[in-house]
This record gives sequence, structure tokens and C-alpha cells, in this order.
Amino acid sequence: MITWDGELLHEIAQALLQYYAAKSRQLPWRETTDPYKIWVSEVMLQQTRVETVIPYFKRFITRFPDIHSLSQATDDEVVKYWEGLGYYSRVRRLHEAVREVDETYGGSVPSEFTSFRLLPGVGDYTAGAVLSIAYGKDTVAVDGNAMRVFSRVYCVNEDVASANAKRIVTKMVQEILPPGYAGQFNQAVMDLGATICTRSRPKCESCPIHAMCCANVSATQDRYPVKKPKKATPTLFYHAFLIHNDDRILVRQRPKKGLLGRMWELPNLPCEGTSIVDEESIYHDAMMAFSIKIDRPVVYLGEYEHAFSHVKWHMQLHEICVSSDECASDCRFVSPNERSSMTFGTIFNRMMQEFISF
Ligand code: SF4
Repeated sequence: MITWDGELLHEIAQALLQYYAAKSRQLPWRETTDPYKIWVSEVMLQQTRVETVIPYFKRFITRFPDIHSLSQATDDEVVKYWEGLGYYSRVRRLHEAVREVDETYGGSVPSEFTSFRLLPGVGDYTAGAVLSIAYGKDTVAVDGNAMRVFSRVYCVNEDVASANAKRIVTKMVQEILPPGYAGQFNQAVMDLGATICTRSRPKCESCPIHAMCCANVSATQDRYPVKKPKKATPTLFYHAFLIHNDDRILVRQRPKKGLLGRMWELPNLPCEGTSIVDEESIYHDAMMAFSIKIDRPVVYLGEYEHAFSHVKWHMQLHEICVSSDECASDCRFVSPNERSSMTFGTIFNRMMQEFISF
């Protein structure tokens, strides 16, 4: 790791501000200074690409244009407007926080770091980004992009996922941050990380700070950010069921806590792996688990996978037809109409889109 003098820090900040003034990306949340809308965009952008977020942001803001409209909406409707973006706990915490802002702060997003940071789901990054962009506060916003950029700029020899690397980079960004221009500076880093200082093959020749970047000067871009080898993601295996009763299908709500909390799913049962499908035992297990009476033999439909950040699901899908409404108390048969207002995880939507006509 190298250290920089004050003049060089100033040069880096100026180069980033000039780059932002000349080349900033045109994004819908940059057409406003409304802290609520900027907050929504920052929450959507966590772990999600800008191109994916844009249509969701527009739709969400059209339906919930301000704190009050979001605060008054039901949980189900809010989650429905997030469907497909994933990481659903983000929107639930946002909804919770917005309700608190409506009730405690009269609908105005707090402009003080400590008050805003205390709201559900608001971390250092979100607070720093929103307050600097919307209120012009001198707050840093260090996310994965900033970690990558400054790990390279300073040749930080610490695992980028470690608390130590975060502390080092945050301190460096605090030193560089040009007072009065934190919003533009933070957004310049976001743009640089997304378009030039990319994960692989950074475009250093187009980078506004290439002459001041340690990794570029020492031709060690590939070495930074330093990453410890990741543990393999575990896979969980399930049998999932598309259980028809005429045009209605059986669905189940997931538990409040945990992955896809309170969202709807096709009923499913954990299993050991993908080894030979024994239809007799599946038939029996499904009857017992979901308290259904099966009319026709189980039909195997195919395999589906979905990777979350820390676990992968592998599901074998089976089709079952029933003619009785009898089912377990945590399940229910729903019509196509009811189904369209419910929010399902991506893997279940893929299964339904393939085998049910909407
Ligand atoms: S010079 Fe290259 S490695 Fe350094 S910040 Fe710019 S794009 Fe990233």
C-alpha cells in the first residue's frame, strides 16, 4: 500500500469531479434532488445492475411517488412492485423505514447522518450516498465499486471483504473527499467503478486518474482488489410441485423470517440430491405433506436452479392433478387472478411461466 501527499489527493478529487461534470451517466434518479427517490434508487442498486434497476425504479416511483404513498401501501403491494429484483428483505426494511419517517419525521427524510443511519436497513453506504447527493452533506459512500477503485488506486494489500480493508479505504476516501462536492465525488466513483474500473480488464487508458493510480502505474491491476478464495456455495435440493385443481394451483406462503420471507411459493419438500426420482415415494410424501388427494400419477416436468448470494437451490418439478380442495392449513388453491397479485420467488415464476397459461 502506498501513501499520498495532500496535493495528490487534491488532484485525484479534481480529476474525478471533472470526469463527472463531463461524462456522468444520465439516470432517472439523477434528475431529482428528492432524498426519498434517491434513497429508493440506492436501495434498488444494492447488488443489482443499473440497467436492471431503471425500469423498476420508474414503475415504483410512479406508483409510490413520495414517502406518504409508500408508507400507506400494504406490504404485499410493495413487494409486488419489487418482484424480480430479488433480495426482498431490502424492500421490507425500506418500507419499514419509510413508515418511521412518515410517523416520526413528518414525511421528511432526516438530513442528519445519525438519525438517518438509525432507520431500518440504512447502512453507512446508503446514508452517505443519500445525504451527500440529496442534501450536499460531506459524507463518504463506500460500496463495492468504491472498494474496488480505491483498492487499486492505493494498492491495498488486504482482503477486500475484510473489515480492515473497509476501514483503510473509508479513511482514504474521507481524506480525498472535496468539501462541498461530496455528492458529485461519490457519484463519479460510482460511474468510474461501473464503466471504467470494472472487475475484469479495467479500461485504464480512459481513466481520469490513471496517472495517479498505484495499480496502473505498477501494472498490477489484476492483483487488486485482493480477494481470498471463496468457499463453494452450498446447494440445497428440493422436490417442487405444481398441483392443479382445474385452473387453480396450490401455493404456500414462506415463513416470515429467512430467505424470501413471506413470499409465495409452489409447495416443495427438501431431498438429498438429484438421484433417481422414485415416483411412488414422491407421490406418498406429497400427499402427506400437503394433505391432498391425488387423482392422477405424478408427472416429472424438469429441473430448475436459482443461485442466491450464499446458497443455491436445485429443484425437481413434478405435476399433480387433484379434484378436491382439501389441503394443509399453510397451503391454499388460488385462481390465476389471485396468483397475479401475489409475489413469488424467481425460480417459482419460471416454473409457472413454463407450464401454466396466464
Ligand atoms: S487507472 Fe485503471 S485500475 Fe486505476 S482506477 Fe483507473 S481504471 Fe481503475
